[in-house]
Amino acid sequence: MSNETLFQEALTHFPGGVSSPVRAFRAVGGTPKFFKKASGAWFEDEDGQRFLDLCMSWGPLILGHAHPDILAAVNEAMQEGLTFGAPSRRELSLARKIKEMVPFIEKMRFVSSGTEAVMSALRAARGFTGRERILKFEGCYHGHSDGLLVKAGSGLVTFGAPTSAGVPKAIAELTSVVTLDDMETLERTFAEIGGELAAAIIEPIPANNGLLLQRPEFLKRLRELCTQHGVVLIFDEVISGFRVAPGGAAERLGITPDMATYGKIIGGGMPVGLYGGRKDIMGVVAPDGPVYQAGTLSGNPVAMAAGLATMEKLTPAFYASLEANAEKWAAAFETIPGLHCPRYGSLLWPLFQDGVRRSDAVKGEAISVFNRLHKALLGQGVYLPPSGYEVAFLSAAHGEAELARFKQAAAAVAKDFA
Ligand SMILES: *Cc1c(COP(=O)(O)O)cnc(C)c1O
Repeated sequence: MSNETLFQEALTHFPGGVSSPVRAFRAVGGTPKFFKKASGAWFEDEDGQRFLDLCMSWGPLILGHAHPDILAAVNEAMQEGLTFGAPSRRELSLARKIKEMVPFIEKMRFVSSGTEAVMSALRAARGFTGRERILKFEGCYHGHSDGLLVKAGSGLVTFGAPTSAGVPKAIAELTSVVTLDDMETLERTFAEIGGELAAAIIEPIPANNGLLLQRPEFLKRLRELCTQHGVVLIFDEVISGFRVAPGGAAERLGITPDMATYGKIIGGGMPVGLYGGRKDIMGVVAPDGPVYQAGTLSGNPVAMAAGLATMEKLTPAFYASLEANAEKWAAAFETIPGLHCPRYGSLLWPLFQDGVRRSDAVKGEAISVFNRLHKALLGQGVYLPPSGYEVAFLSAAHGEAELARFKQAAAAVAKDFA
């Protein structure tokens, strides 16, 4: 069956025809590609056409699609049972590996998604501090739990307002929202409500509203303010964790949070999330403490096997090589007239605008030109994330042949953007 036929049927089953909204291609227009199978940096859609993938399932696939070592590990684990609902040894292997890579994770718990990791970390922070309010930053995404689908409300130090229907106002009001890179509001917020905040949560390398790279001073000041006011600092490393360095953004920036959340890469393509950090904070989590959090499929043995097989490859040399390669891809993007490509590690943000550090600085015009680029490159067999607010993800499977293919595609579309 063709993409189009499948999508028409999907529209009768699912809202927008999809299982997650950005997949619907509403931003860029056209029919979403139905992936049939994928390997390395490439996938084939249901029309039988091959594409070079620069979205890579939004981040988990740092080794590429269907890496043989991950498939072998999954296969081996699978033969021993799909789920136990009881402790099993693979959880320990992955936990050991994580502690080796991220030394400040003293205790941790596995969950099944990034959303769940963040939601649980916030509950632990609230249980630990006995406080209810939290602070987040405009332009950071932390999954779709109620308290985080929130934007700044009106007023000075604001009570947040829901960004989604269905989120109770009373819950949104417990979240205060500060704009990224806005030091003055950050200072004022802590001065006014620092003592009421259980946690401040941030993507240290914000990568869900484009790539809004922060000045190190901003993140360092946030760390100091949290310490001064007894606020739990949570780094949401669901994207940056195990992507930008063995110890994630915390290692690269030299800033140690109190807790961190992970997802995406940690499951190697299977559904895994994790929250963890200081052992005194994690000590409040059930059954050691009074903060309840549980999961039928948490620590799933097959998912643990996929995660571990991935993490075993992630050496410092691996990152050095991925990074050197990513530099070439950013340069190749920038051969398209007017296109800038900010980069951090193997995260790239192709945008027709330069020097953006906060979400309200992104121009509508830059996004509409991106939408045109998306379509043009798709016509050349290159699949970018279907929104100008999303970053592109590279993997170890994006080698010389893939880069050459991409350069060809970029050259073919360049004249339309001159
Ligand atoms: C993807 C993401 C999440 C949510 O993870 P899901 O597995 O989609 O629930 C949370 N935080 C960040 C930074 C993310 O990129």
